[in-house]
Amino acid sequence: MRRYHTTFWGCQMNEADTQRVAAELERLGYVYTDEAEQADVVVLNTCVVRQSAEDKVYGKLGALKPVKTARPDMVISVMGCLVGQGTKQADALRKAYPMVDVFMSPSETRPLVDFLQARDMDRLAQEVDLSALATRYQAQDEELALPTHERGRIQANVPVMYGCDHVCTFCIIPARRGRERSRSADDIVREVRSLVGQGVKEVMLLGQIVDRFGYDSGDHAGLSSLLRRLNAVDGLERIRFLTSHPSYMTDELLETVAEAPKVMEHINVPVQAGHDVTLQRMKRGYTTDDYRRLVERIRRTVPNVAIHTDIIVGFAGETDEHFQGTVDLLRELKLDKAHLAMYSPRPGTVSAKIMADDVPPTEKARRLHLLDELQHTVVADINARYLGQSVQVLVEGRHKGKWRGRTRNDKLVFFEDATRDWTGRLVDVEVTWTGPWSMQARLPQPMTVEREVIPLVAG
Ligand code: SF4
Repeated sequence: MRRYHTTFWGCQMNEADTQRVAAELERLGYVYTDEAEQADVVVLNTCVVRQSAEDKVYGKLGALKPVKTARPDMVISVMGCLVGQGTKQADALRKAYPMVDVFMSPSETRPLVDFLQARDMDRLAQEVDLSALATRYQAQDEELALPTHERGRIQANVPVMYGCDHVCTFCIIPARRGRERSRSADDIVREVRSLVGQGVKEVMLLGQIVDRFGYDSGDHAGLSSLLRRLNAVDGLERIRFLTSHPSYMTDELLETVAEAPKVMEHINVPVQAGHDVTLQRMKRGYTTDDYRRLVERIRRTVPNVAIHTDIIVGFAGETDEHFQGTVDLLRELKLDKAHLAMYSPRPGTVSAKIMADDVPPTEKARRLHLLDELQHTVVADINARYLGQSVQVLVEGRHKGKWRGRTRNDKLVFFEDATRDWTGRLVDVEVTWTGPWSMQARLPQPMTVEREVIPLVAG
């Protein structure tokens, strides 16, 4: 039995790409193992958004080096943003890490499959029924199989587009993931149907600027039509999408979110900073007032919506006054979640090249902490409004003896019940306690199951 191992760092896009590689390795007859050191094929899917993520890759490669020396047959593949799109980065890595057999750009899986197929042809001929293998390969484009160790998931990430045409000055993604390109809507719908057939109830559509889905072929309503098509997929319960850019959140898209019952009232739209000078230096293409109007428009169009945002603190040139703008904006808009990060210049970005990283680390940490405390209070207040209310959750599984699920607008809810397996079911629960990060709830008496969903099928 040949074994493979995958590790990924970073975003949901990397998670989805890793799943795809795993599925392809399983088609070749490989079986998953948790232990990289025991594997015949190891895939490391990398992230360079922060230095710490990059360092973890180098650490993992260092740990694998003696194993590869002892077992030269082991295949090591490195993919993702560390490798990037062009040959320049890969060539440098090839020199630094000759032990790596295959380098792959983000979202690419073919080079590893080709490498293994070429290398393993004799073995495959003996161990695998080649006609069955050929059939599986034909089905490959039509059907995405979840890797075995991922079966039973009720939520799956589905990349709908790759790359980004923007040039936010702090961001390395366009350099590493290339130009924006949308997948075909037909392929996405087929893939989602296939995932639903494997037990998935909820999909997260992924793109660097997902609200630009279809723009590269001139279709400015691409995401709206895709959402409406997916809304009609039988057996699919919930659809979410991220990450949106404030400049492309059209009325049509918001109306689709409001009207299509399977599209959740949950919008992730990063503001990044709350002062126009910083936004301009980041080259984000909108002002704080544009963002205020957007939040107002989202809330007016989509009742009960939760809005999530991303914020970078301590960006190059961010003064106390600029930072205060971010504090004021968050206090005013009261958003449901803010993903906070300290600015860290990434080599190759515009800001790293031409702007001084002039906010000291201790000050960045202070700003981060201050926003964190503020959000803590804001979200605790928002969530307290749910106390005593009935909310519908899709149950994801067990956590510390309780059932864990999410509301339509992405609030995390726990409840207790020993009578049945609730995994994958939609259920109405009554909120009994709220905090900033989660809620506790109980099943109402008499209990109502909103909709029975067939338990997940493995295999
Ligand atoms: S929109 Fe800006 S932050 Fe987002 S991926 Fe593109 S360049 Fe990076």
